[in-house]
Amino acid sequence: MGTDCLFCRIVAGEIPATIVRETATTLAFRDIGPKAPVHVLVIPKEHYADVATLAQGDPTLAGELLATAAVVAEEEGLTADGFRLMFNTGEHGGQEVFHVHAHLLGGAPLGPMICR
Ligand code: AMP
Ligand code: ZN
Repeated sequence: MGTDCLFCRIVAGEIPATIVRETATTLAFRDIGPKAPVHVLVIPKEHYADVATLAQGDPTLAGELLATAAVVAEEEGLTADGFRLMFNTGEHGGQEVFHVHAHLLGGAPLGPMICR
């Protein structure tokens, strides 16, 4: 995708991020506006717009993204008490960055799944 995608630019090292884990195909970094004590974004390095496009286009990569999220959850100490893994998708999902990312949230009780 390239230069006009924020998260592709983070993958390319053009925009700084606090990276917590990197694999050959995925990257995990701290969200710039954390909504929980632990808030990490997990992305594929390759550009896919959203989770549906990723899952249909490259299910293996989708699995690798989930595996990275699980390892980060463990490293961040979230496994015992639990966490939330969330993909905002499209307009109604509140997606703002159109490079698929899993929000890994935890470190405290997260409350109801949807607040209005
Ligand atoms: P979404 O609304 O699901 O598309 O989430 C986009 C997320 O990206 C938000 O939680 C933002 O705080 C986060 N974000 C935006 N810019 C950056 C950045 N440069 N580094 C880390 N996280 C970011
Ligand atoms: Zn991208």
